[in-house]
Amino acid sequence: MSRRTLIVCGDGASAVLLVCALARQAGQGLSIVVIGRNSHAGRGIAYSTANPNHLLNVPAARMSADINRPDQFVQWLDGHGIAARDWPHGFVSRALYGAYLSELLETTLKANPDLEVRFIRGDVKSLMKKHLGWIVAYDGGAVTADLVALATGNDLPPPIAPHHARKLRARICDNPWAEHVVEKDQDVLILGSGLTAIDAVISLKDRGHAARIHLLSRHGLLPQRHVEPLPSQPLPRPFPKTILGLLRAMRDQLGRAPEPARWQGLMDAMRPHWPGIWLSLPPHEKKRFLRHGVTQWNIHRHRLAPRVGEYLGHSLSRNLHIVKGRLRHLKPMESGMIATIARGVHVTELRVEHVINCTGPNPNPEKTHDHLIENLVASRLARGTDAGVGLDVDAKNRVLDKSGIAQPSLLAMGALTRGHWWEITAIPEIAHQAQVMSGAIMEYLGILNAASRINRRH
Ligand SMILES: Cc1cc2nc3c(=O)[nH]c(=O)nc-3n(C[C@H](O)[C@H](O)[C@H](O)COP(=O)(O)OP(=O)(O)OC[C@H]3O[C@@H](n4cnc5c(N)ncnc54)[C@H](O)[C@@H]3O)c2cc1C
Repeated sequence: MSRRTLIVCGDGASAVLLVCALARQAGQGLSIVVIGRNSHAGRGIAYSTANPNHLLNVPAARMSADINRPDQFVQWLDGHGIAARDWPHGFVSRALYGAYLSELLETTLKANPDLEVRFIRGDVKSLMKKHLGWIVAYDGGAVTADLVALATGNDLPPPIAPHHARKLRARICDNPWAEHVVEKDQDVLILGSGLTAIDAVISLKDRGHAARIHLLSRHGLLPQRHVEPLPSQPLPRPFPKTILGLLRAMRDQLGRAPEPARWQGLMDAMRPHWPGIWLSLPPHEKKRFLRHGVTQWNIHRHRLAPRVGEYLGHSLSRNLHIVKGRLRHLKPMESGMIATIARGVHVTELRVEHVINCTGPNPNPEKTHDHLIENLVASRLARGTDAGVGLDVDAKNRVLDKSGIAQPSLLAMGALTRGHWWEITAIPEIAHQAQVMSGAIMEYLGILNAASRINRRH
């Protein structure tokens, strides 16, 4: 029987975790083609940074790519003479994690010579159904496949000023993960104050940025800093079915003004339960959370590595300023621009030379500027979730088409599936998802192969 083909669209950590999970499931008889924009598979957005001060925001002990070997990454670090088991040494550089994933991929492929894996550098533009399979079109041609896995990661943030004059556009960076060309003596306005904004600050400062850096966000809140958590029990079951109920239950368990070690311990204890809780919430509760709770969630859940927290505290007393408010307008000037910022009835102006958009990935596939996702939605092969976040998938991560039917040969993973699972954007959860998906892929291939055998007999 000829080999079945799986095409993975995207070449980041999710793609590598899926290939490795398939290899563990004895994926022989399967040919995998990974199509991605980068020269090194596995690094994606998060792990392609070479900056040693861009650190993991999850301790190494929880970053194994293999759910059957939870110690794998720490052992890999041990093998490279890096002790990362004890607090706070586990927050190693993201570049190291990228190197670990590359090595893991290489050893996995060597150990499984029957598993065919090919990498194509390219940008996937669209998918088209062909009989039971797919035609995947990318900027260098087209390939056919029996199955497709979408692993394209986070979308870019919605562009901040698409209507602005071209003159200004050269000074606005809408891709927060791209290299920013900024002179050391030019003032910068960073929109957003989450982990990506902090990464941008680190990049600027490491290049000796001496001018002012303004971090603008609605509430002016920075991510919390990781402390060594106190082990905690999760909330008692059954979990409340409303966001307010959950918040109250957490407050009851923690008491008034809990120290960070306690609430971080509870957040960690609850982490495996968020997908189940999210799934049980009705759409209006999800929307309420996204409207009113997501800022608090982000700063408590997506925390800074302790060393980054210290660095930031130090910078805040120098040329880093937190600004509360919303960007209302950008007006081009001879050099740079004037940013008008509104906070309630108060309006202030800031003169800056550059703007970096770190407002967070566009969550809604129905409002994306990404060609592939836009095409999938337009051709009714995919739809957004009720809450307006991510693609609609089922428990096996099979993508639901416009009418809500799960497609066994089209799967999605990582940030694309956030609307279904909510807690799914980091390695611990993606590693688990990759294992579940590899099971679904092998199951579907089994069905396809059985059907072919029956057809040949008749
Ligand atoms: C700055 C940052 C830091 C992070 N730090 C951590 C951390 O410390 N620990 C943790 O667990 N998680 C962290 N995360 C979460 C992180 O997203 C996951 O750990 C993981 O890297 C997600 O991988 P991915 O492959 O799903 O997405 P990505 O890393 O975004 O990779 C997707 C890849 O697909 C490519 N691609 C996209 N569209 C197409 C297309 N149409 N055609 C071809 N290729 C395409 C992209 O160029 C990219 O290379 C971080 C995320 C970011 C952004």
